Amino acid sequence: MIVVMKKGASAEVVQDMVRRVEGMGLKAHVIQGTERTVIAAVGEKRNGERETLESYEDVEKVVPILAPYKIASREVKPDPTVVEIGSFKAGLGHIGVIAGPCSVESEDQIMSVAADVKKAGATALRGGAFKPRTSPYSFQGLKEEGLQLLAAAREATGLAVVTEVMTPGQVELVANYADVLQVGARNMQNYNLLQAVGETLKPVLLKRGPSATMEEFLLAAEYILDQGNKHVMLCERGVRTFETHTRFTLPLASVPYLQEKTHLPVIVDPSHGTGKASLVPPMCTAAVAAGCDGLMIEVHPNPHQAVSDGAQSLTPEAFQHTMQQCRKVAEVLGYTM
Ligand code: PEP
Ligand code: MN
Repeated sequence: MIVVMKKGASAEVVQDMVRRVEGMGLKAHVIQGTERTVIAAVGEKRNGERETLESYEDVEKVVPILAPYKIASREVKPDPTVVEIGSFKAGLGHIGVIAGPCSVESEDQIMSVAADVKKAGATALRGGAFKPRTSPYSFQGLKEEGLQLLAAAREATGLAVVTEVMTPGQVELVANYADVLQVGARNMQNYNLLQAVGETLKPVLLKRGPSATMEEFLLAAEYILDQGNKHVMLCERGVRTFETHTRFTLPLASVPYLQEKTHLPVIVDPSHGTGKASLVPPMCTAAVAAGCDGLMIEVHPNPHQAVSDGAQSLTPEAFQHTMQQCRKVAEVLGYTM
């Protein structure tokens, strides 16, 4: 249910209502809108709660939330959520660009690519220190050493650091170094991990599972939001289909669809979405044209020597050109990047 408070309801009045909602055994999430405050009351419903809540003088109305996800839905929060960390900003017409290698490989590699992507206009640096690899024999990441190198690159460039966390047990360690916790596609339905990143209150980049429906994707985001973490970004990174000409199939209609259903920023990852460097630049401009709130792009100083995902990684030069093209599209549509 959404408890819509009357215009101008004071903080004390809202807090009183939160206590009443909690007294009914429901969780209360306060959402401050531009017009008025609403309280999302979520949990297992019993009888008569709606009528009881509606009977209070400071309550304008109580409406049911029709979507299966609650706090993630636009019904609860019509205003878009903006995720901002230093110079990185995603949402409400701001396109945040997260760029960097698939994996952190060495100090030279991460420092040089961080400087290059920063110069080209990226606002966050990506790089995996814990890598979810399909084969147990593939490079698994530099782990804590990789996190330290990312932190050094942040120190040198000022870029926010986005990096993946794979297990609940790693959350504390990764959160010590990262600005944004990435939950990878393979872990989208790892509910213990979703709850653990939700508890940190650090911004989270949640990647869509390769076979997840939009509803499953949004319900996964709901697990994070339900812990009180409001800073969740959704990342479309392509789904598994019968098609083999690309690594995954990148459905850009997800962008406007998700923006209709949720207030959360929508990021597009054309690198994993296509798997081929030559297809990445046009899909970046297409994602901007579709209205995305951010891009995640793999960039490597020497893609041929990358230990992971070299085939889909842009060179720094190609990334710079891609940024120029994206900016042109953004400008026409009135977005900033
Ligand atoms: C990645 O971002 O490097 C990654 C492993 O992506 P995904 O989880 O989307 O496969
Ligand atoms: Mn990768």
